[in-house]
Amino acid sequence: MSGGPLALAVDLGGTAMKGAVVSEAGAVVAELTRPTPTADILGALVTLLRDLRDVAPDEVVGAGVATPGILDEERGIVHYASNLDWRDVPLLDILQSQLRLPVAVGHDVRAAGLAERRLGAARGFDDFVLIPIGTGVAAALVTAGGTITGATGAAGEFGHIPVIPGGEPCTCGQRGCLEVYMSGAGVARRYAEAGGEPLSARTIVSRLGSDPLADRIWDEAVTVLAQGLVTMTLMLDPGVIVLGGGVSQAGDAMFGPLERKVRDGLAWRAAPAIVQSALGGDAGRTGAGLLAFGAAR
Ligand SMILES: [Zn+2]
Repeated sequence: MSGGPLALAVDLGGTAMKGAVVSEAGAVVAELTRPTPTADILGALVTLLRDLRDVAPDEVVGAGVATPGILDEERGIVHYASNLDWRDVPLLDILQSQLRLPVAVGHDVRAAGLAERRLGAARGFDDFVLIPIGTGVAAALVTAGGTITGATGAAGEFGHIPVIPGGEPCTCGQRGCLEVYMSGAGVARRYAEAGGEPLSARTIVSRLGSDPLADRIWDEAVTVLAQGLVTMTLMLDPGVIVLGGGVSQAGDAMFGPLERKVRDGLAWRAAPAIVQSALGGDAGRTGAGLLAFGAAR
């Protein structure tokens, strides 16, 4: 294989390891996705990276891995990742010694934010937020071109901002968190608890307009999200709000009422545009590739 330099990129999730060999422009040369094992995740990750490198051993200049959890991106240490069952894993050092390549380790949502900024829906913006809404809700906060990580690497927990004082309990131990109401898991749970059948959020959304219970649960979810976005807008003044994740694919059922509610919630300033992610489920992996090229330089 010939051409420009390439990087190995992996989005390491609790259920799948999404890997690819990518160019700096984000072109995918090869893809390899494997289920995340329950034991020896590190070993499986190293094997996946080696198999990817075999696609173009002479062109690969670095590797990037995007992981969930609380991490020190500079030193590449994953302090805590509940869905990988990791505590204080020195991921960067391990991968670097196993692969003998420059390696970068990044937070999955922040890596996705980087990708949306360079190649996706936030292109040209130095101030924006990316909010993936899937089973749960997170956020990448970018201000003046830099991603906010926080003092302990835990910034961007948008799903756990309490929006309903004394509201329904969250798995995190707080009450009234945003993702209790607006997330794939939250919408499905609240629909079933209100007397509906056990259905996925996607199916519930497909029943809007013909199922009053679906209408009510969804309206409450969008209202809570709008409340969170109003707060976010007043705090950070983003140029654009990018929504990703499975729930953002609800399309007009999401964006129409959400834009209206955010506009209504802001009395004295204009609302930023709210758009759908351009990179979708590939954003984390694309961001991992960009981090890899950064490490190689
Ligand atoms: Zn919570």
